[in-house]
Amino acid sequence: MTVCKKCLLTSDYPGIEFDDAGVCQLCRTDNRGFRAAPPPQLVEDCRRDFEETVERIRGRHAYDAVLCLSGGKDSAWLAYLLTEKYRLNILAYNMQPGFGSALSGPNLARVVERLGMTLRTFCWPPDFSRTFYRYLFTHPLKEGVTATVCRVCHSCLHSSAIRLAQKEGAPLVLIGYSPFQVTRDWFYERKKEEILKHFRLSGEFWKQSGMTPEVRERLYFPEEDEEAFSPRFLMPLHVLDYPSEIEVREKLEKIGLLDVRRTLPRSTNCDLTWLMTHCDTLHFGEPPFRDWVSEKIRKGEDSRLKYILAFKAITWLSRARLLKHRRIRAALRKLRLTEKEVLESLEKAEVSEEIFDDIYKINPSRDVIADLEKNT
Ligand SMILES: [Zn+2]
Repeated sequence: MTVCKKCLLTSDYPGIEFDDAGVCQLCRTDNRGFRAAPPPQLVEDCRRDFEETVERIRGRHAYDAVLCLSGGKDSAWLAYLLTEKYRLNILAYNMQPGFGSALSGPNLARVVERLGMTLRTFCWPPDFSRTFYRYLFTHPLKEGVTATVCRVCHSCLHSSAIRLAQKEGAPLVLIGYSPFQVTRDWFYERKKEEILKHFRLSGEFWKQSGMTPEVRERLYFPEEDEEAFSPRFLMPLHVLDYPSEIEVREKLEKIGLLDVRRTLPRSTNCDLTWLMTHCDTLHFGEPPFRDWVSEKIRKGEDSRLKYILAFKAITWLSRARLLKHRRIRAALRKLRLTEKEVLESLEKAEVSEEIFDDIYKINPSRDVIADLEKNT
């Protein structure tokens, strides 16, 4: 396995190529975090698509769009653009899975109030939450528990936001992923087929007993709910003006939408983070955030050497059962799981369906909106 001489990406990262000096192409070219930057023409097309779409739908439904709002800086920034610049009537949506995840933050109420939005929240029943995460920890993808839990959790957020939009007849679901966030997986628009693929990642989970009718009702299953109208699912920050992260923070603070000291860090404060890190580190022999760390090195925020040392330290601590041991034990207790069970499940994990192919091969289409207009 080759490791990039400048950042820390390895040759098994999807689509990575190295030059003769052993430097990856993300280090050699302009990039957006985990990917080469999108072609400028595509960004332009998508931006036009977004602005035309917004013009067409404004004021025609009870809400123009459902916006997934975490209270973090990116979703606050998007909320600001949507309400102030695009004058949309937004239904804000927040999901709380019950493990202190960063899907909700202290700024949430402030943003909702200042921008005059209506807020709907979905707090998972504790029993469901436990069943859900227990299942994921014992049925991980080959990529590890961190990848599994984060992906499926995002999938739930998307699915429940779509369900809400269906109920309220809102033609759009919007989410504030920054140009630097999860662009490995998605760019600008998620089509129904991709949402379906993501749902398959959690396999049989949805068919098991943990699914109460109460929860079932709040989620959209593309396979079963074939007939339901499907709102467009867009990530507008990928194509709209997005100054640097620092500028966004400063601007939000200035207009009173963000108390910077209270914003959650990007890596989230989900209670399960340390347990996931611990199990993946033991299984793979290194911590599970090489991609994320590589990005920070490429952006010049941190040094390569520091992370090489940190990786070694975390791995050692994890093996010695000294890494955040109290928190990890508490998480295991809450899930009614043992470390051994999780590690054995990782051993048995199978290769998952490849779902992250070329994210820049999208073709923004307004057909869905046209269908909606026919029906209303
Ligand atoms: Zn590199």
